[in-house]
Amino acid sequence: MKSVTVIGLGPMGQAMAGAYLRAGYEVTVWSRTPGRAAELEARGAARARTVEEALTANELVVLSLIDYDAVHAVLAQAPEGALAGRVVANLTSDTPDRARETAAWLAARGAVQITGGVQVPPPAIGTPGAMTYYSGPLDAVETHRSALEVLTGIDHLGEDPGLAALYYQIGIDMFWTALAGYLHGQAVAEANGISAERFLPHAVKTMDLGYFLEFYAPRIAAGDHRGDVDRLSMGVASLEHVARTARASGVDASLPDAVLEVFRRGVAAGHGQDSLTSLIDVLKRP
Ligand code: NDP
Repeated sequence: MKSVTVIGLGPMGQAMAGAYLRAGYEVTVWSRTPGRAAELEARGAARARTVEEALTANELVVLSLIDYDAVHAVLAQAPEGALAGRVVANLTSDTPDRARETAAWLAARGAVQITGGVQVPPPAIGTPGAMTYYSGPLDAVETHRSALEVLTGIDHLGEDPGLAALYYQIGIDMFWTALAGYLHGQAVAEANGISAERFLPHAVKTMDLGYFLEFYAPRIAAGDHRGDVDRLSMGVASLEHVARTARASGVDASLPDAVLEVFRRGVAAGHGQDSLTSLIDVLKRP
Protein backbone atom coordinates (compact mmCIF):
# COMPACT_ATOMS: atom_id res chain seq x y z
CA MET A 1 0.00 0.00 0.00
CA LYS A 2 1.33 3.43 -0.96
CA SER A 3 1.26 5.72 2.03
CA VAL A 4 2.23 9.24 3.06
CA THR A 5 1.87 11.72 5.90
CA VAL A 6 0.79 15.31 5.29
CA ILE A 7 1.37 17.84 8.07
CA GLY A 8 -0.30 21.25 7.75
CA LEU A 9 -3.78 21.51 6.31
CA GLY A 10 -4.06 25.03 4.98
CA PRO A 11 -5.42 25.30 1.42
CA MET A 12 -2.18 23.77 0.07
CA GLY A 13 -1.93 20.86 2.51
CA GLN A 14 -5.62 20.08 1.97
CA ALA A 15 -5.10 19.99 -1.80
CA MET A 16 -2.06 17.72 -1.37
CA ALA A 17 -3.76 15.28 1.00
CA GLY A 18 -6.77 15.27 -1.34
CA ALA A 19 -4.55 14.45 -4.34
CA TYR A 20 -3.01 11.52 -2.45
CA LEU A 21 -6.43 10.18 -1.51
CA ARG A 22 -7.52 10.42 -5.15
CA ALA A 23 -4.37 8.53 -6.16
CA GLY A 24 -5.24 5.69 -3.77
CA TYR A 25 -2.69 6.45 -1.07
CA GLU A 26 -3.16 5.69 2.59
CA VAL A 27 -2.92 9.23 3.98
CA THR A 28 -2.18 10.25 7.56
CA VAL A 29 -2.75 13.93 8.33
CA TRP A 30 -1.97 16.25 11.22
CA SER A 31 -2.92 19.87 11.64
CA ARG A 32 -2.61 22.34 14.53
CA THR A 33 -6.34 23.01 14.13
CA PRO A 34 -7.84 19.49 14.23
CA GLY A 35 -11.08 20.57 12.52
CA ARG A 36 -9.18 21.12 9.26
CA ALA A 37 -8.91 17.35 8.86
CA ALA A 38 -12.66 16.67 8.99
CA GLU A 39 -13.35 16.59 5.25
CA LEU A 40 -10.23 14.54 4.54
CA GLU A 41 -11.16 12.09 7.29
CA ALA A 42 -14.58 11.70 5.68
CA ARG A 43 -12.74 10.79 2.46
CA GLY A 44 -10.63 8.14 4.19
CA ALA A 45 -7.62 9.95 5.65
CA ALA A 46 -6.40 8.96 9.12
CA ARG A 47 -6.03 11.87 11.54
CA ALA A 48 -2.98 11.51 13.75
CA ARG A 49 -3.66 12.70 17.30
CA THR A 50 -0.06 13.76 17.83
CA VAL A 51 2.85 14.94 15.71
CA GLU A 52 4.76 11.86 16.82
CA GLU A 53 1.99 9.62 15.50
CA ALA A 54 2.00 11.53 12.21
CA LEU A 55 5.79 11.28 11.81
CA THR A 56 6.07 7.62 12.65
CA ALA A 57 3.16 6.57 10.44
CA ASN A 58 5.17 6.87 7.20
CA GLU A 59 8.68 7.23 5.84
CA LEU A 60 7.60 10.11 3.56
CA VAL A 61 6.33 13.15 5.45
CA VAL A 62 5.09 16.16 3.47
CA LEU A 63 5.19 19.45 5.36
CA SER A 64 3.00 22.30 4.15
CA LEU A 65 3.16 25.01 6.81
CA ILE A 66 3.14 28.77 6.68
CA ASP A 67 6.89 29.14 7.38
CA TYR A 68 9.86 27.40 8.99
CA ASP A 69 9.03 28.82 12.45
CA ALA A 70 5.85 26.77 12.18
CA VAL A 71 7.90 23.77 10.95
CA HIS A 72 10.04 23.89 14.09
CA ALA A 73 7.06 24.60 16.35
CA VAL A 74 5.40 21.45 14.98
CA LEU A 75 8.43 19.15 14.92
CA ALA A 76 9.41 20.17 18.47
CA GLN A 77 6.18 18.55 19.66
CA ALA A 78 7.53 15.06 18.89
CA PRO A 79 10.39 13.27 20.61
CA GLU A 80 13.55 13.53 18.50
CA GLY A 81 13.58 9.80 17.84
CA ALA A 82 10.36 10.16 15.84
CA LEU A 83 12.32 11.85 13.04
CA ALA A 84 14.90 9.11 12.55
CA GLY A 85 14.63 7.53 9.11
CA ARG A 86 12.03 10.02 7.81
CA VAL A 87 12.23 11.73 4.43
CA VAL A 88 10.72 15.15 4.98
CA ALA A 89 9.46 16.78 1.81
CA ASN A 90 9.38 20.30 3.21
CA LEU A 91 7.11 22.22 0.82
CA THR A 92 6.93 25.17 3.18
CA SER A 93 8.04 28.56 1.88
CA ASP A 94 10.89 30.41 3.60
CA THR A 95 14.37 31.76 2.89
CA PRO A 96 17.22 29.66 1.43
CA ASP A 97 19.20 30.01 4.67
CA ARG A 98 16.35 28.67 6.75
CA ALA A 99 15.97 25.74 4.36
CA ARG A 100 19.68 24.94 4.76
CA GLU A 101 19.56 25.28 8.58
CA THR A 102 16.52 23.05 8.84
CA ALA A 103 18.03 20.42 6.53
CA ALA A 104 21.07 20.30 8.84
CA TRP A 105 18.82 20.23 11.92
CA LEU A 106 16.89 17.28 10.47
CA ALA A 107 20.07 15.48 9.40
CA ALA A 108 21.31 15.70 13.00
CA ARG A 109 18.15 13.80 13.97
CA GLY A 110 18.53 11.12 11.30
CA ALA A 111 16.04 12.58 8.81
CA VAL A 112 16.54 13.78 5.25
CA GLN A 113 14.98 16.99 4.00
CA ILE A 114 13.92 17.45 0.40
CA THR A 115 13.22 21.16 0.05
CA GLY A 116 10.34 22.09 -2.24
CA GLY A 117 8.95 25.31 -3.65
CA VAL A 118 5.53 24.72 -5.17
CA GLN A 119 4.98 26.86 -8.26
CA VAL A 120 1.21 26.52 -8.53
CA PRO A 121 -1.81 27.39 -6.39
CA PRO A 122 -3.75 24.66 -4.51
CA PRO A 123 -6.35 23.95 -7.22
CA ALA A 124 -3.53 23.02 -9.65
CA ILE A 125 -2.08 20.33 -7.34
CA GLY A 126 -2.38 16.98 -9.10
CA THR A 127 -3.01 18.54 -12.53
CA PRO A 128 -0.75 18.22 -15.59
CA GLY A 129 1.83 20.95 -16.04
CA ALA A 130 2.07 21.79 -12.32
CA MET A 131 5.70 22.00 -11.16
CA THR A 132 7.68 22.20 -7.93
CA TYR A 133 11.30 23.26 -7.51
CA TYR A 134 13.12 20.64 -5.47
CA SER A 135 16.61 20.51 -4.03
CA GLY A 136 18.44 18.24 -1.65
CA PRO A 137 19.65 14.66 -2.03
CA LEU A 138 18.73 13.35 -5.49
CA ASP A 139 18.60 9.76 -4.24
CA ALA A 140 15.83 10.68 -1.77
CA VAL A 141 13.93 12.44 -4.58
CA GLU A 142 14.31 9.39 -6.83
CA THR A 143 13.21 7.00 -4.06
CA HIS A 144 10.01 9.01 -3.59
CA ARG A 145 9.58 10.23 -7.17
CA SER A 146 6.24 8.52 -7.78
CA ALA A 147 4.76 9.92 -4.53
CA LEU A 148 6.06 13.44 -5.20
CA GLU A 149 4.71 13.29 -8.75
CA VAL A 150 1.20 12.73 -7.40
CA LEU A 151 1.37 16.42 -6.43
CA THR A 152 3.30 18.05 -9.30
CA GLY A 153 6.15 17.50 -11.71
CA ILE A 154 9.68 17.61 -10.29
CA ASP A 155 12.28 20.23 -11.19
CA HIS A 156 15.33 19.08 -9.20
CA LEU A 157 17.86 21.92 -9.09
CA GLY A 158 20.73 20.35 -7.16
CA GLU A 159 21.86 18.94 -3.83
CA ASP A 160 22.02 22.28 -1.93
CA PRO A 161 18.84 22.31 0.21
CA GLY A 162 18.64 26.11 -0.16
CA LEU A 163 18.39 26.08 -3.97
CA ALA A 164 14.71 25.24 -4.26
CA ALA A 165 13.89 27.99 -1.74
CA LEU A 166 16.10 30.43 -3.66
CA TYR A 167 14.48 29.74 -7.06
CA TYR A 168 11.05 29.89 -5.41
CA GLN A 169 11.75 33.25 -3.74
CA ILE A 170 13.12 34.71 -6.98
CA GLY A 171 10.00 33.63 -8.84
CA ILE A 172 7.71 34.92 -6.11
CA ASP A 173 9.64 38.23 -6.04
CA MET A 174 8.67 38.65 -9.70
CA PHE A 175 5.15 37.35 -9.15
CA TRP A 176 4.17 39.62 -6.24
CA THR A 177 5.45 42.80 -7.83
CA ALA A 178 3.87 41.95 -11.19
CA LEU A 179 0.55 41.05 -9.58
CA ALA A 180 0.64 44.21 -7.45
CA GLY A 181 1.16 46.10 -10.72
CA TYR A 182 -1.97 44.50 -12.12
CA LEU A 183 -3.99 45.36 -9.00
CA HIS A 184 -2.75 48.95 -9.08
CA GLY A 185 -3.57 49.35 -12.75
CA GLN A 186 -7.02 47.87 -12.19
CA ALA A 187 -7.59 50.31 -9.30
CA VAL A 188 -6.90 53.18 -11.71
CA ALA A 189 -9.19 51.51 -14.27
CA GLU A 190 -12.04 51.16 -11.75
CA ALA A 191 -11.58 54.73 -10.51
CA ASN A 192 -12.31 55.68 -14.14
CA GLY A 193 -15.31 53.37 -14.51
CA ILE A 194 -13.48 50.61 -16.43
CA SER A 195 -14.41 47.17 -15.09
CA ALA A 196 -11.97 44.29 -14.65
CA GLU A 197 -13.79 42.35 -17.39
CA ARG A 198 -13.63 45.30 -19.77
CA PHE A 199 -9.89 45.74 -19.24
CA LEU A 200 -9.06 42.00 -19.09
CA PRO A 201 -7.86 41.49 -22.70
CA HIS A 202 -5.62 44.57 -22.43
CA ALA A 203 -4.30 43.45 -19.03
CA VAL A 204 -3.49 39.95 -20.33
CA LYS A 205 -1.58 41.42 -23.28
CA THR A 206 0.31 43.89 -21.10
CA MET A 207 1.26 41.30 -18.48
CA ASP A 208 2.63 38.93 -21.13
CA LEU A 209 6.24 39.98 -20.60
CA GLY A 210 7.80 36.99 -22.38
CA TYR A 211 8.92 39.08 -25.35
CA PHE A 212 10.79 41.52 -23.10
CA LEU A 213 12.41 38.76 -21.03
CA GLU A 214 13.67 36.95 -24.15
CA PHE A 215 15.04 40.23 -25.49
CA TYR A 216 16.69 41.37 -22.26
CA ALA A 217 18.10 38.12 -20.79
CA PRO A 218 20.93 37.61 -23.34
CA ARG A 219 21.85 41.29 -23.10
CA ILE A 220 21.91 41.15 -19.29
CA ALA A 221 24.04 38.00 -19.45
CA ALA A 222 26.46 39.80 -21.80
CA GLY A 223 26.55 42.95 -19.63
CA ASP A 224 25.14 44.89 -22.59
CA HIS A 225 23.08 47.81 -21.20
CA ARG A 226 23.05 49.96 -24.35
CA GLY A 227 20.14 52.39 -24.48
CA ASP A 228 19.46 51.70 -28.16
CA VAL A 229 15.87 50.59 -27.59
CA ASP A 230 14.89 51.91 -24.17
CA ARG A 231 16.44 54.56 -21.97
CA LEU A 232 16.12 54.96 -18.22
CA SER A 233 15.37 58.68 -18.66
CA MET A 234 12.34 57.70 -20.78
CA GLY A 235 11.28 55.35 -17.96
CA VAL A 236 11.43 58.19 -15.42
CA ALA A 237 9.23 60.44 -17.59
CA SER A 238 6.80 57.58 -18.20
CA LEU A 239 6.51 56.68 -14.51
CA GLU A 240 5.87 60.34 -13.65
CA HIS A 241 2.89 60.21 -16.05
CA VAL A 242 1.69 56.97 -14.46
CA ALA A 243 1.90 58.35 -10.90
CA ARG A 244 0.19 61.61 -11.94
CA THR A 245 -2.62 59.69 -13.68
CA ALA A 246 -3.14 57.59 -10.55
CA ARG A 247 -3.27 60.67 -8.29
CA ALA A 248 -5.61 62.49 -10.66
CA SER A 249 -7.88 59.42 -10.44
CA GLY A 250 -7.83 59.58 -6.64
CA VAL A 251 -5.79 56.35 -6.45
CA ASP A 252 -2.86 55.72 -4.10
CA ALA A 253 0.37 56.20 -6.10
CA SER A 254 2.87 54.73 -3.63
CA LEU A 255 3.53 51.73 -5.90
CA PRO A 256 4.54 53.63 -9.08
CA ASP A 257 6.28 56.18 -6.82
CA ALA A 258 8.45 53.38 -5.39
CA VAL A 259 9.40 52.23 -8.91
CA LEU A 260 10.02 55.83 -9.95
CA GLU A 261 12.37 56.26 -7.01
CA VAL A 262 14.47 53.28 -8.15
CA PHE A 263 14.54 54.60 -11.74
CA ARG A 264 15.62 58.05 -10.50
CA ARG A 265 18.45 56.45 -8.53
CA GLY A 266 19.57 54.84 -11.77
CA VAL A 267 19.60 58.19 -13.54
CA ALA A 268 21.47 59.78 -10.60
CA ALA A 269 24.07 57.00 -10.92
CA GLY A 270 24.69 58.11 -14.52
CA HIS A 271 22.48 55.57 -16.36
CA GLY A 272 19.97 58.02 -17.86
CA GLN A 273 20.99 57.13 -21.41
CA ASP A 274 21.39 53.40 -20.68
CA SER A 275 18.83 50.63 -20.95
CA LEU A 276 16.41 49.86 -18.12
CA THR A 277 18.53 46.74 -17.55
CA SER A 278 21.25 48.96 -16.05
CA LEU A 279 18.98 49.06 -12.99
CA ILE A 280 20.15 45.57 -12.11
CA ASP A 281 23.55 46.98 -11.15
CA VAL A 282 21.87 49.79 -9.19
CA LEU A 283 19.69 47.28 -7.33
CA LYS A 284 22.67 45.06 -6.54
CA ARG A 285 24.31 48.01 -4.74
CA PRO A 286 21.60 49.42 -2.47
P1 NDP B 1 -1.46 28.68 5.26
O1 NDP B 1 -1.20 30.10 5.57
O2 NDP B 1 -2.87 28.26 5.23
O3 NDP B 1 -0.62 27.81 6.29
C1 NDP B 1 -0.56 26.41 6.30
C2 NDP B 1 -0.71 25.88 7.70
O4 NDP B 1 0.32 26.37 8.58
C3 NDP B 1 -2.02 26.24 8.34
O5 NDP B 1 -2.87 25.14 8.26
C4 NDP B 1 -1.63 26.59 9.78
O6 NDP B 1 -2.33 25.85 10.76
C5 NDP B 1 -0.19 26.16 9.86
N1 NDP B 1 0.52 26.93 10.87
C6 NDP B 1 0.80 28.25 10.88
N2 NDP B 1 1.48 28.58 11.99
C7 NDP B 1 1.63 27.43 12.71
C8 NDP B 1 2.25 27.12 13.95
N3 NDP B 1 2.90 28.05 14.67
N4 NDP B 1 2.20 25.84 14.37
C9 NDP B 1 1.58 24.89 13.64
N5 NDP B 1 0.98 25.12 12.45
C10 NDP B 1 1.00 26.38 12.00
O7 NDP B 1 -0.70 28.35 3.90
P2 NDP B 1 -1.09 27.52 2.57
O8 NDP B 1 -1.73 26.22 2.91
O9 NDP B 1 -1.76 28.42 1.61
O10 NDP B 1 0.38 27.26 2.02
C11 NDP B 1 1.30 26.37 2.66
C12 NDP B 1 2.69 26.67 2.14
O11 NDP B 1 2.70 26.54 0.72
C13 NDP B 1 3.18 28.08 2.47
O12 NDP B 1 4.53 28.04 2.80
C14 NDP B 1 2.96 28.84 1.17
O13 NDP B 1 3.85 29.91 1.01
C15 NDP B 1 3.21 27.73 0.13
N6 NDP B 1 2.51 27.98 -1.12
C16 NDP B 1 1.21 28.35 -1.12
C17 NDP B 1 0.55 28.63 -2.30
C18 NDP B 1 -0.89 29.06 -2.29
O14 NDP B 1 -1.34 29.56 -3.33
N7 NDP B 1 -1.64 28.86 -1.20
C19 NDP B 1 1.23 28.51 -3.60
C20 NDP B 1 2.59 28.03 -3.50
C21 NDP B 1 3.20 27.79 -2.30
P3 NDP B 1 -3.83 26.19 11.21
O15 NDP B 1 -4.66 25.47 10.21
O16 NDP B 1 -3.92 25.66 12.58
O17 NDP B 1 -3.98 27.70 11.15
